[in-house]
Amino acid sequence: MTQPDQSDLIAVNIDGREIAVPPGTNMIEAARLLGIDIPHFCYHAKLSVAGNCRMCLVEMGKPAVDPATREPIPDPATGRQKIRWVSKPVIACFTVAAPGLYIRTNTPLIKECREGVMEFLLINHPLDCPICDQAGECKLQEQATQYGRGYSRFVERKNVKPKRTLLGPRVMLDDERCILCSRCVRFCKEIAQDDVLGFTDRGSYSTLTCYPGKRLEHNYSLNTVDICPVGALTSVDFRFKMRVWFLKQTNSIDTESSVGANTVVWSREGVIYRITPRDNDEVNDTWMADSGRLLYQQIRAANRLLEPRVDGQPASLAAALSAAAGLLQIRTGATDMGETPMPPATAGQRGTGVSPVSADRKSELEKRRSAVAVVGSGRSSVEEQFLTKKLAAALKAPAWIVARVGEGDRLLLSADRNPNTRGALVTGLIRTLPSPTLTELAAQIDAGQVKTVVAVGEDLVAAGLTAAQLAKISVIYLGTHANATADAAKVVLPTLTVFEKSGTFINQQFRLQKFAAAVPGPLGASDDLAVLSPLVAAVGGPPPGATVAALWPALAAEISQFAAVTYQSLPDTGLLLDRTPWAALPFAEGETLHYQHPA
Ligand code: SF4
Repeated sequence: MTQPDQSDLIAVNIDGREIAVPPGTNMIEAARLLGIDIPHFCYHAKLSVAGNCRMCLVEMGKPAVDPATREPIPDPATGRQKIRWVSKPVIACFTVAAPGLYIRTNTPLIKECREGVMEFLLINHPLDCPICDQAGECKLQEQATQYGRGYSRFVERKNVKPKRTLLGPRVMLDDERCILCSRCVRFCKEIAQDDVLGFTDRGSYSTLTCYPGKRLEHNYSLNTVDICPVGALTSVDFRFKMRVWFLKQTNSIDTESSVGANTVVWSREGVIYRITPRDNDEVNDTWMADSGRLLYQQIRAANRLLEPRVDGQPASLAAALSAAAGLLQIRTGATDMGETPMPPATAGQRGTGVSPVSADRKSELEKRRSAVAVVGSGRSSVEEQFLTKKLAAALKAPAWIVARVGEGDRLLLSADRNPNTRGALVTGLIRTLPSPTLTELAAQIDAGQVKTVVAVGEDLVAAGLTAAQLAKISVIYLGTHANATADAAKVVLPTLTVFEKSGTFINQQFRLQKFAAAVPGPLGASDDLAVLSPLVAAVGGPPPGATVAALWPALAAEISQFAAVTYQSLPDTGLLLDRTPWAALPFAEGETLHYQHPA
């Protein structure tokens, strides 16, 4: 983000304190910079100003000057220039910085204004906080407590409006809670570009609804739930499942595409209940796609891989790793070389059980290793791709990843549906952009040049290999869910979803962003790093770390873009890397929010 020139800044005075802000800054934002809260409902920093809730009323003044001489009029009480205060309060959301602007936010008049607004807003609002799903994050409840009068003079009957109206497949409306702030209306029109919501009737009978023949079903509909300041709009998937104050929040990244929208995963006792967007003005503002919010359901899918397998039979992790190493033509455990086998892995020692190969064995194995190929993934983390590359390098095996290209929606779903294609380039796993099909690998299998394939998180059949080609090779499959490749694999090593592990992705801007484990993985599945690391060691590569923290010193030492970076020091908003080495590549992405194709 470019910083404004200091000479462009405008000085304003809020509650007696001076602050210089960029032109166009409204008084809610200027006060926020001073740590002063101006309460509001309809104002949202990423939407147009509606000015209809009137909660942000403040007093406004200007230095007084003599109309005839334009000379400052002194204030006898202070000796300084007198401030001429406007007789009526103004709304702070619509008042932008101007030279010499004075604002008061905490006078008796403003206190009375806020109490009046709150009283009006609560006239028809049901007092059902104990059973409302918004409790714990309701702006109306919070501001009624902080700025309300504490009692109501309204003795008439409250309006009754429709309850539980499905506006679309994912959003439920409780109309009697709506305070008509129009945030949801403006979001649909201005951000989602689907003008679907509006108000009918007037006054106390105003009601939010969809336009005739329309539904709130675009892929950004759940953002209206996030920005609704009350409990009028709720998520069909989340409502009444869990009180928000019980939930743990973990920073994560949306893996749907190379946009890498920042997210928060809300979980309790190992169960994920919802995913919401996390503010990052450089990537996704405060929004995310609905489709990304439902990805957590994959962790409990019926086809989740939950036990290692060798030749279709359940096996221990140590046995599966030994079998994998055997397929890579590496001797493991107690064999003809007379070395001491590694003890079997216990539950607390996931990923061990493969002994390093001795030096004199290496040359003998070189030739046989040339029959191995590695298929990595653009969905793997930077750390996993780094180890995948190390595995391929130790085996002297070619490596590919699989491209996923869809249609970008010009907002937060880009054409590249892999979250980490850039990571594969930066780590050196690939040198050029991937193809959607593994044509080259298929040809090498047909020619008998490849006998064993290590597939890290990719379904080889979906990537174009046929069942006949799979039948000609031995497959070592690392993955989370069953598919045709897992079914055909000689060795299956179950791994973790993005919600169960930590790591980093590099998004379309070449922004390195980290994610953290929100919940523990299921019994039987291992961290990808804990599986890849012993395999690298087993094929003669330098013993790498098996955790994110342990790998970063090597990443920083070997990859110039990562110099001086550590996982711990990486900012929550990410770190922009130098993309110069890959500037000429024809990336698939078109325009999205905060991204223009460099071409
Ligand atoms: Fe505002 Fe919520 Fe009503 Fe929409 S449903 S107008 S966001 S209070």
